[in-house]
Amino acid sequence: MRPIRKGEPPTELEQYKRNTANASFQEFSAKESLRASLVREQSGLCCYCMCRIENSPRSVRVEHWHPQSGERGKQLELEYQNLLAACSGQIANRQRKVLHSHCDHAKGNQLLAVNSANADHHGRLLSVSYKRDGTIHCRDPELEVQLNAVLNLSNDVLKDRRKAARDQVIDLLRRRFGTRRISQQVWNDLRGRYTDDSNEAELPAYADVVLKWIESHIR
Ligand SMILES: [Zn+2]
Repeated sequence: MRPIRKGEPPTELEQYKRNTANASFQEFSAKESLRASLVREQSGLCCYCMCRIENSPRSVRVEHWHPQSGERGKQLELEYQNLLAACSGQIANRQRKVLHSHCDHAKGNQLLAVNSANADHHGRLLSVSYKRDGTIHCRDPELEVQLNAVLNLSNDVLKDRRKAARDQVIDLLRRRFGTRRISQQVWNDLRGRYTDDSNEAELPAYADVVLKWIESHIR
């Protein structure tokens, strides 16, 4: 999970809310433009597991941070600040012959403590780190429960994918520099590839895992 900076809502969503009595998420038909907007501001990554997502109904689920159930859920179901783009939330573990459910799919109607699209919550995401084997570790106990127990982000497949994303960068640096010292300039340049400071550029999958590893080498 990485901080998301929300942009302006798509015009279609605002027009629909303004012009429709009893507007509802289910009846809102311009989901294509909504998904496009969410995917773009998330730099093409799932709001929870950070896998790559494309703007299609199969690849992206429009996630409601505050679930749609209940009176409050109904009030917020078309609020852009409450909407995120999540992956399909199902992943096959071929070794164990099981299908892992994670992200929005595992969360269901549970209310999470931290919203990565709320700037007031971004400070709490700093407590997230990744172990060498790809396991998520979190100093914030409430967030630890959210990431691992509710969103199931430390299932074996996601763990392996996070580890592979970081190992790929380690291998690349080893091939390029061998045992030579890597300059701060190189670390800074590399850091730029895993941050979205440059206008919602697309990011590689599991960017936050690699970013935190790179930042541990920057003084
Ligand atoms: Zn996901």
